[in-house]
Amino acid sequence: MQNAGKFYIDGTWGDPISTEKMDVINPATEAVIAQIPLANEDDVNLAVAAAKRAFVTYSQTTVDERLGMLERLLAIYKRRYDEVAQTITSELGAPITMSREQQADAGVGHLEDFIAVLRDLKTEETLHNGETLLREPIGVCGLITPWNWPINQIVLKVIPALATGCTCVLKPSEFTPLNAVLYAEMIDEAGFPKGSFNLVQGAGPVAGAAMSRHPDISMMSFTGSTRAGKAITKDASETIKRVTLELGGKSPNIVFEDVDIEDRIAFSVSDVFNNSGQTCDAPTRMLVQRSIYDDAVKVAKRVGDAASVGDPTAEGDHIGPLVSHIQYDRVQTLIQAGIDEGAKVLVGGVGKPDGINKGYFTKPTIFYDVNNDMRVAREEIFGPVVVMIPFDTEEDAIEIANDTPYGLAAYIQTPDDAKADRVARKLRAGMIRINGAFPRAGSPFGGYKQSGIGREGGLFGLEDFMEIKMLHKP
Ligand code: NAD
Repeated sequence: MQNAGKFYIDGTWGDPISTEKMDVINPATEAVIAQIPLANEDDVNLAVAAAKRAFVTYSQTTVDERLGMLERLLAIYKRRYDEVAQTITSELGAPITMSREQQADAGVGHLEDFIAVLRDLKTEETLHNGETLLREPIGVCGLITPWNWPINQIVLKVIPALATGCTCVLKPSEFTPLNAVLYAEMIDEAGFPKGSFNLVQGAGPVAGAAMSRHPDISMMSFTGSTRAGKAITKDASETIKRVTLELGGKSPNIVFEDVDIEDRIAFSVSDVFNNSGQTCDAPTRMLVQRSIYDDAVKVAKRVGDAASVGDPTAEGDHIGPLVSHIQYDRVQTLIQAGIDEGAKVLVGGVGKPDGINKGYFTKPTIFYDVNNDMRVAREEIFGPVVVMIPFDTEEDAIEIANDTPYGLAAYIQTPDDAKADRVARKLRAGMIRINGAFPRAGSPFGGYKQSGIGREGGLFGLEDFMEIKMLHKP
């Protein structure tokens, strides 16, 4: 990839100041597929300075001008769609069918929805007291994204920044930097003014921290681990910038006794295995009503045993590897912790799947007879690992579901609409998915408690990037 060794700053692909580099590894083959530069503080300063200069004029562009650029970007993205899917498969290891149908597809759905919402966005309104309220772009934004849904996260930050008239510096995950290079090339081709969008590659504690501390950045928008979210919040506090965070989750999935067990357990297991379990809102804590628990365990075993792991370049609904050696080690440590704490292994366990010696593949794993105090029930594993916990009553289910530091999503399985609605209102989470319903583009994505601050997508996602200005007239 021609621009992988460069940064996109002030409308130009240029050489970095830093001489540090990092290999990009294909997690299925462990082969080096590219090398990226790792930005130092000077590189970040150049990118922020370009964004600051550009803000003066870009913030004054009209909604129609910005809509024109976003529509061009959408057409270019659709043209280069397959490159995005292929790139995500080679740097993340997402199986190609899933890369195409889910990973790359997120880049279309969110962009189309932001275009629709921007058309109707009220940037000026008269309040009930007769005074005038203006919504304006907040300024230069620092955007830091993770590797697990790479283009999805980039689009959820870059587009609302550019749509509202902010300028930005993107630092994508150093483990999946190449789809960001493609996106920067598309933004360039779409004709966004120089300096409005800038891309640097780099390590979190160096480039990311330099952004969080930068006095000319008005807002940090971050998705990733709770650990990094805390570091960014602390680094940003000296300069009092707005910080929005999309962090981890350990989402409960309440399966009531009145479900079609085959159907709902199959969904519950496969939804966790999707993307090798590297999804922040996956239903990883399966709470099953005791009267159907034994049957649910049997179905989970069958579904878990049938899940296959394999080559991400092959079409199909199999599971790919984890993103990196670090992630592989993290997942192994937590599976071992489950075994040590006495959780029973129903499917999988530690180590690589039989017959696979290369790549960061892990065994899809299901634990049963888990207690909500165990590490495997409290910590985000971020691998294809499900834990099954029995419960007795609706009240028990709600209590166990809410007994977590996280509050990103929660799932309810029941054909009883009144019960689903009643329980949903008692769960402390930002997104309640009933009977597997998938969130539509434009609905705010984000969580309660330690799962984050702010919402992404649609109107709420745009508003996070705006300041409010009041005009008081005599
Ligand atoms: P990570 O936090 O290590 O990395 C995410 C990004 O943050 C990367 O770009 C990294 O370079 C950067 N970073 C790391 N330390 C930093 C620091 N001190 N200052 C500034 N930037 C820093 O996490 P990860 O391993 O890439 O992603 C996995 C985690 O992200 C999981 O916990 C997952 O739940 C969470 N996640 C949450 C959501 C959500 O929407 N809530 C979405 C995706 C991922």
